[in-house]
Amino acid sequence: MLETISEWQTLLPLTSSEQNGENMNTYKYNGREIPVIGGYDTVIVGGGTAGASCGISAGREGNRVLIIEKGISLGGAAVNALVTPVMESFVPHEQNFRDIEEELKKRGVTTRDGIMEYVYSTPETRQEVLEELFLGTGGDILYDTVFSDVVVEEKRIKYLIVSNVSGLTAVKASQFVDATGDAVLSRAAGVPYTSGDDEGNNQISSLRFEMGGIDINRYRDYCLSLEDTFSPLVNGYFFESAMVKNKGFKLEPLFRKGIEAGILKEEDLFYYQCFSLPGEPGCMSFNCPHLSKMKNNTDAFERSRSLSEGRKMIRRLVTFLQKMMPGFENSYLIRIANEIGIRESYRIVGKYVLREEDYIKRARFDDAVAKGDWYIDVHSATKGLVHMEKYKKGEYYEIPYRCLINDKVDNLLTIGRCISTTFLVQASIRVQACVTDQGDCAGKACARALKAGVELADFDGKGLCTGKADNGK
Ligand SMILES: Cc1cc2nc3c(=O)[nH]c(=O)nc-3n(C[C@H](O)[C@H](O)[C@H](O)COP(=O)(O)OP(=O)(O)OC[C@H]3O[C@@H](n4cnc5c(N)ncnc54)[C@H](O)[C@@H]3O)c2cc1C
Repeated sequence: MLETISEWQTLLPLTSSEQNGENMNTYKYNGREIPVIGGYDTVIVGGGTAGASCGISAGREGNRVLIIEKGISLGGAAVNALVTPVMESFVPHEQNFRDIEEELKKRGVTTRDGIMEYVYSTPETRQEVLEELFLGTGGDILYDTVFSDVVVEEKRIKYLIVSNVSGLTAVKASQFVDATGDAVLSRAAGVPYTSGDDEGNNQISSLRFEMGGIDINRYRDYCLSLEDTFSPLVNGYFFESAMVKNKGFKLEPLFRKGIEAGILKEEDLFYYQCFSLPGEPGCMSFNCPHLSKMKNNTDAFERSRSLSEGRKMIRRLVTFLQKMMPGFENSYLIRIANEIGIRESYRIVGKYVLREEDYIKRARFDDAVAKGDWYIDVHSATKGLVHMEKYKKGEYYEIPYRCLINDKVDNLLTIGRCISTTFLVQASIRVQACVTDQGDCAGKACARALKAGVELADFDGKGLCTGKADNGK
């Protein structure tokens, strides 16, 4: 690993023709000379599920890749928002999906619970695996580095402006990938975008947490005694439980008693879900609380207020569980996610917008970058849970490469949960298996477009999706 920016500049000098008359290794930004990092084929902003996967496959196919990540690990929401399960998926997946599970298993992670087809990991192992796979391709990472601005000239990104402990730096490359989840780079570069449903409401976000010291068998027995049929109530250590208010869930009366006891508030009952963690006895992961007061998660102040509110909600839920839920008598809070779990925020409007019709007809495309089979799964603040027809095992739609490119910037791909779809279809494509495959094919597209000498926006996207049907087993 290179250690300082000046070290990078020595190793990766920009030619004077690249500099176009500017000072070697500096760029004048807002009246200040700032250092320039160059020499990369592909720069990916955001090292989450999609960005890491893109980096791995672009590097594997020979591109010189830099990932710029505002956090201090790869993995994004899967690590920082504690979204540890990869939703079950029965379609052929790309190489990274299989390699990641293989590497998790090598590190002793029980990736499958033996009941469902979800792939689990701990956040720590996931970040380790992604980092090793990516660095193993010869790529570089700039952690703790925030993308802040972009310089676009003649429909091409010329520089990214990033901020980190070294100050402001300009980053130069042939191609750029926006894997920020929130389309941060695409919006800054002038790509058209949209957000939310027809009324502008975003999906509900959650602040997840984990607890340990739970007597899961006792908890399960209690749920069984209520004839709670929501969960796979099987023997074995895996157990999942849920309660959604006013939907007849058997746990609701106990939650109501929590309100009567002055521990819980009405908003704490909006959505409660927890599941045991394979390989971590006595631990459960909580896919809640829903931050139902936050209608607009594209507002930085609303996000910040919701974080403070979410932490209070978690404290109330933990107290309620410890005092009133059988099995939680000796439990404790292990950790709260250090990032809000954002299901949906901005979506780019690309060359193709994937729509409900495509979902219904199980659309196929010559330029497919991923196969999706998770149902349309909206957590809505105003309409509750909105679900569309689920597919039978083996059925899928495809996402075309054209959902990743746009008419405004030629050397940019957008990947992950913010690609070009409608609000409803985003609620299907956002799951991690699909996002991993998108990233994988996007990385291949970067390498192949570069070799072919064409811009990402002009690349035809054919032959990228080659998934094999072994689901990592
Ligand atoms: C509460 C919740 C529960 C979910 N449950 C499941 C589930 O059970 N199973 C499943 O498969 N999926 C689930 N999902 C969906 C899935 O987790 C996400 O949609 C997916 O992880 C998004 O991946 P991504 O790569 O697009 O974004 P992310 O993983 O969020 O990656 C974006 C990255 O960009 C970085 N970044 C952002 N801005 C900047 C910047 N300016 N500069 C530098 N870096 C930046 C971020 O730090 C992050 O690392 C859930 C999502 C949520 C929110």
